Amino acid sequence: MSTPGTAERPLCVAVIGAGPSGFYAVEAFLKTAGLNVRVDLFDRLPTPYGLARGGVAPDHQKIKAVTAVYDRVASDPRVRFFGNVKLGKDITVDDLRARYDQIVYAFGCESDRKMGIPGEDLKGSYSATDFVGWYNAHPDYRDLPFDLNCEAAAVVGIGNVAIDVVRILAQDPEVLAKTDIAAHAVEALRKSKIKRVYLLGRRGPVQAAFSPKEIEELGEIERADLIVKPEELVLDEVSKAGLSNSEAKKNYDYLTEASHKGAGAKAHKIFSRFCVSPVELIGKDGKVSAVKLELNNLTPDGKGSVKCAGSGKFETLEGVGLVFRSVGYRGIPVPGVPFDEKAGRVANDNGRITATAGGPVVPSEYVVGWAKRGPSGLIGTNRACSVATVATMVADLKEGKLAQRSVDVSMESTPRLLASKGAKVVTFAQWKSIDKLEVENGKKAGKIREKFTRVSEMLAALGAPAVGPKA
Ligand code: NAP
Repeated sequence: MSTPGTAERPLCVAVIGAGPSGFYAVEAFLKTAGLNVRVDLFDRLPTPYGLARGGVAPDHQKIKAVTAVYDRVASDPRVRFFGNVKLGKDITVDDLRARYDQIVYAFGCESDRKMGIPGEDLKGSYSATDFVGWYNAHPDYRDLPFDLNCEAAAVVGIGNVAIDVVRILAQDPEVLAKTDIAAHAVEALRKSKIKRVYLLGRRGPVQAAFSPKEIEELGEIERADLIVKPEELVLDEVSKAGLSNSEAKKNYDYLTEASHKGAGAKAHKIFSRFCVSPVELIGKDGKVSAVKLELNNLTPDGKGSVKCAGSGKFETLEGVGLVFRSVGYRGIPVPGVPFDEKAGRVANDNGRITATAGGPVVPSEYVVGWAKRGPSGLIGTNRACSVATVATMVADLKEGKLAQRSVDVSMESTPRLLASKGAKVVTFAQWKSIDKLEVENGKKAGKIREKFTRVSEMLAALGAPAVGPKA
């Protein structure tokens, strides 16, 4: 049998997860000179694009324009899309091993970190990722019962996800209504009683993880004042040195300017707070009603930054009925794929999957994106990450390091398996039909797109979905 990667015997690769990192992995294979390759791209949803569809905020349409690149990748005849196919249910790791020379996992981080404080499990306490999925019409979050019938909400953490959540809560729903936000979210936001939104950072403004553009957008919301306490902008020596970072400096300058404006006269208020940690969510009738904060002191962490420690001084934010923890995503273990519990991601060594964290390499299996390196970086960061893993894969191929096993790489092998399991596969052409319908429905509603919010609705809109791979 000839070596995979030749004209007689193309290299057959499975990419699991059709988000940015998955598409960039496919793209990197297509661009590898002299390599004859076929790539099957799987996603558990009928819709591709991962967080570019289900994570990027609806009022950030420019960021979503990146999907045009993914469409070009998917239209390459060497690529097939198998949407609505879930790893572990419709196809297993062993099924993949029997059909592909190499497997790349690109399924991101589907869970989140907890704060670990009393009251965290009360009604009204959520992960920010739940809220993001809900307003972005992700089918998994469609039915979450967010109750916006309270005076105030608090978002814990000061990364870009936290800012997105604050902005959606504080923004005029009529501005959002024109985007591709879920219809159920606009409806709920129109009835929202929330007038105050707290953005809570445990460290100082120089350590904020948000981008300057994101904090500036909070200051630009027409109906809301951005309120910053000048005393929370006073810097320790280490933080002063941190201003040499241009992003930190821009954030700091913007916050300083905002702090001079005072409370303002607008009906809605965003309080950007620093050096505070929620230590308890206080409940009434089983539901969050207030947040107890401890004020923090910052001390050098010995690594060039600062760490926080409670000062023993406390403050309570009354009237807070909703709390969103936005303290980072976390991977979840997938059956058959080694997981590094401590790091919260797939166990790997520079993209090569390892049997355990720090253990031996599992040949022919790889990982890209957040599942590889954890939940950090912008969409574009994933391109370099996927390019690096694909280079490793091609090197392993050339050096004869693939797993020694027989694989059935016939074109029909995977479609036949999925048909036998009764999987309702959605092809890329069928996704494009869903896409067209969403845009048409959006036009009727005066918005960019009206997303389907349930998989069953998507499948119904397609009529009887094919169980084959070809578009
Ligand atoms: P992130 O950038 O890692 O921010 C997490 C925040 O949570 C940090 O402020 C962190 O503070 C804080 N935190 C962690 N543990 C905490 C705790 N126990 N108590 C209080 N605060 C805690 O994560 P993210 O916001 O989820 O974003 C993930 C990635 O997606 C980032 O790379 C982000 O830039 C990207 N993203 C980009 C955009 C955009 O470009 N528009 C939008 C959304 C997301 P410490 O620093 O003190 O740990």
